Amino acid sequence: GAKSNGRGTVCFYEAAMNASLQNRRALEMGLRQALVRDEFLLHYQPLVDARTHEILGFEALIRWAHPERGLVAPSEFISIAESCGLIGEIGRWTLRRACLDARSWPGQVKVAVNLSPVQFKDRQLVEAVRAVLEESGLAPERLELEITESVLLHDSEAVLSSLHRIKALGVQISMDDFGTGYSSLSYLRSFPFDKIKIDRSFVRDLPHDTNSVAIVRAVVGLSGTFGISVTAEGVETSEQARQLALEDCDQLQGYLFSRPIPAAGIPELIGRLADAAPSAGAVADLGV
Ligand code: C2E
Ligand code: MG
Ligand code: MG
Ligand code: MG
Repeated sequence: GAKSNGRGTVCFYEAAMNASLQNRRALEMGLRQALVRDEFLLHYQPLVDARTHEILGFEALIRWAHPERGLVAPSEFISIAESCGLIGEIGRWTLRRACLDARSWPGQVKVAVNLSPVQFKDRQLVEAVRAVLEESGLAPERLELEITESVLLHDSEAVLSSLHRIKALGVQISMDDFGTGYSSLSYLRSFPFDKIKIDRSFVRDLPHDTNSVAIVRAVVGLSGTFGISVTAEGVETSEQARQLALEDCDQLQGYLFSRPIPAAGIPELIGRLADAAPSAGAVADLGV
């Protein structure tokens, strides 16, 4: 009857919860071991000039080389690392690895590193950034730190102070995934961003979807008045790339140019994209 069905449902939920709790505990333990066993690695995805498609930088994207599961994506472990207190150590590893890798790239090519909002609770964050720059010898102007707008929701005085101190080091700050959170265009005025990255959900339906075009246009327009540069994420087709260049986006990132790749593939990728970049004539043909 209904009663036993209800009970069965409860048992089912309990079992599922236990399974997910166990899964979570296993992940936590695995993450601790991963730090010790050096199982994290970075892949890099190019950021290109929207008009010339020249490579301007690379975003570092973490992966976990799990001994049994193979490469694990950040969406499967970053939020757990954030809630179990491991994101600080993982974040410091990422920042250091990325700065060391970037030293061997051509002189003006930048490296972008994602920072978790949780890392802003660490009072040593700014000092850690300074120390990594010193150790690696990377010019501060070549480092960009990407943060999402959720970082601005809590204790924004403290976050603002950290952002200003990071900028005082000469490092650039980018707002990531713009438009997905509790975005307020007023953030652009209140916080010291050098760049905003339009989330790929606004790029997906370009060039045909008039709402997406309007959003891109508004963001580019307002950013321009604040002197903030604009990158579009998730560019997969040449039609999207063309539209974004016409709308005066500064930089593009997406599978059209390259998927994220291991650091070892960067020299070859730089050569390949240089060959594929549109000539000055082709850029003129875009009407840009
Ligand atoms: P994100 O910072 O917005 O990075 C862009 C994500 O979009 C990456 O996913 C990238 O592989 C994916 N992507 C790039 N181009 C395209 C495209 O054309 N189409 C589609 N569909 N996707 C594209 P990934 O590498 O899985 O990273 C996911 C998120 O994990 C990142 O989003 C970032 O928020 C977080 N993350 C990655 N590495 C780190 C890290 O070292 N620290 C922290 N705290 N978070 C990280
Ligand atoms: Mg990012
Ligand atoms: Mg992003
Ligand atoms: Mg995004």
